[in-house]
This record gives sequence, structure tokens and C-alpha cells, in this order.
Amino acid sequence: MAATIIDGAAQAARVRSEVAQDAAAFARELGRSAGLATVLVGDDAGSSVYVDAKQRDCREVGIEPFDHRLGADTTQGDVIALLETLNAEETVDAILLQLPVPDGLDGAALTALIDPAKDADGLTPVSAGLLAQGLPGMRPCTPVGVMELLDAYRIEPDGARAVVIGRSNLVGKPLGALLLERNATVTMAHSRTRELPQLAASADILVAAVGRPQMIQPAWVKPGATVIDVGITRGEHGLVGDVAFDGVAAIAGALTPVPGGVGPMTRACLLRNTLRAARARATLASIKR
Ligand code: NAP
Repeated sequence: MAATIIDGAAQAARVRSEVAQDAAAFARELGRSAGLATVLVGDDAGSSVYVDAKQRDCREVGIEPFDHRLGADTTQGDVIALLETLNAEETVDAILLQLPVPDGLDGAALTALIDPAKDADGLTPVSAGLLAQGLPGMRPCTPVGVMELLDAYRIEPDGARAVVIGRSNLVGKPLGALLLERNATVTMAHSRTRELPQLAASADILVAAVGRPQMIQPAWVKPGATVIDVGITRGEHGLVGDVAFDGVAAIAGALTPVPGGVGPMTRACLLRNTLRAARARATLASIKR
């Protein structure tokens, strides 16, 4: 049986169109567009491509992008000063600090300085704490995108056994929390996990968020399981995921491709987070008035 290929590009187009409508309504009501500030430090070509894409996405849906690029010789103090300015800037509803930052800068400490109300990627300690406690807050884009893909394809986490390989603050940990919130039985795996292939093969929902091309082999997959490939490695022939796609597609029930799976949803969810932050800030401002 060939797996259903989960079309992240189509789902992302749906989210973008919803955000575009909401962005237009916001601009009508508030007399200004919702604004996303991106902060890129250093000259990493891959990061620059990502930020360019985020800026383009914003323009397409009617969000105002504010593009801040700082040279590789930028100090921690320079970035702190910029983040403080953006935290205070009325027209900036959401802030994204592109990670990783260059060696010598402390990305975690910088992320922690973003106003949680403007935390576009849901990565501040406040947002992570709210997620851990099941309280409302900004959620990280990639995990939210994965959950939406599951919902769009009616793949039910409730009662399912989920194995998440990778435990980063960006992807693995928050995705584990979101799956747990939806009543999956979650096992977090990582580089020190023993007997990983056997563990993976016990999963109804298997998520690979590692960054090792084609690590997930067909023998790691339970027949009919859902396999979510978050991994992205830039290879000679383009982007490669963590899953050996062709072999796994013959065994899994559903599978995300790379590219065209989780990646587009991550970008779309960033736009939606920006609108959510803008709406929440506008509501708070009206209450204070
Ligand atoms: P990360 O911070 O480098 O984390 C990688 C995780 O993989 C770590 O928890 C690590 O375990 C684990 N790991 C490494 N080698 C392993 C092995 N042999 N067996 C089991 N686990 C292993 O990476 P990340 O930021 O989470 O990103 C993961 C991947 O997703 C990357 O390819 C990244 O490019 C991609 N990504 C994609 C999107 C998207 O939109 N599609 C978004 C974000 C990231 P330890 O903790 O023990 O070291």
C-alpha cells in the first residue's frame, strides 16, 4: 500500500489565504497593517534565503515586513539594543530572531529578551512555559504546522503512540508537548536513545526532527504509521529530509515529503502567529484605553 503523501504546500496555501483575509480586516479596523520584524545577524547564506522568503510571504498576505540585517561583527549589546527598540515599537506586532546567531553571540539569551506578546516563533522561555502548562500563548511555528497537517488529514493523535526523534527547543520538545496536549502517548528520542529503530517501529505517529538525511529507513516504520519528516538538509541536488522517502512511502500510511511538507506550513504558521500577536496587542490596547 502506498502512503498518502501529505501536501504541505496545499495546506500552507489555505493558511496563507486565511491570513490574507484576516490581515486585510485588521488593516481596515486598525488603520495600519500588522507588522513582523525579522532580525538576521551575520552573513549565513542559508539563513538569508529563509529571511528573504519570510519577508516575501509577509508582503504577499498584507503583513508589513521590517527587515533588520546586522553584520557578522555585531555584538550581543547591539542585538539587545535592537530587540529593545522593536519591543517598544508600536507598529511591530511580532519579532523573529533568525537562529542560529553567529558564534560569540548567545541566541538563547537574545531570544529570551523578545517581548512574549511579540514572540512570533513562540520560542521565549515565557512561551515555552505557557505551552508546558497548557496555557494560551504563542506556539512555535513548526510544531503547530505539524499538528495542522495531522488535523487536515484527519490523523488523530488521541490515544496514538507518538515517537518524536529530536528534542530541540525549536521543534522536538514543543511538538512533544502539543502531541501530549492532544492525548497522544509521547516518547521523546534523541542521540542517546537506545534501540531507536525498534522504538520508532512502535509508533503510530513517527516524527523525525534530526537533520540526518534518510536516517529513517523502512524497517523503522510500522505498517500504516504516519511519518512526519521535519528534517531539512541542503544537499547537492536540493533539500533532503530525514526519511528515506521511497522505501518508507511503501510502508507508511501517510508521509510528508521534503520539500513540500512541513517547511511550507512552518512559514505559513509564522504569518498566522503574527496576525494573532497583532490582534492580541490591539485588544489589550483597547482595554487599556
Ligand atoms: P537540532 O537542534 O540540531 O536538534 C537535533 C536533534 O536530533 C537533537 O535532539 C539530537 O539529539 C537529535 N539527534 C542527533 N543525532 C541523532 C541520532 N543519531 N539519533 C537520534 N537523535 C539524534 O535541530 P532542530 O533545530 O531541531 O532541527 C532538526 C531538523 O529539522 C534540521 O534538519 C532542521 O533543518 C529541520 N527543521 C526544519 C524545519 C521545517 O520547517 N521543516 C524547521 C526547523 C528545523 P541530542 O539532543 O541528544 O543532541
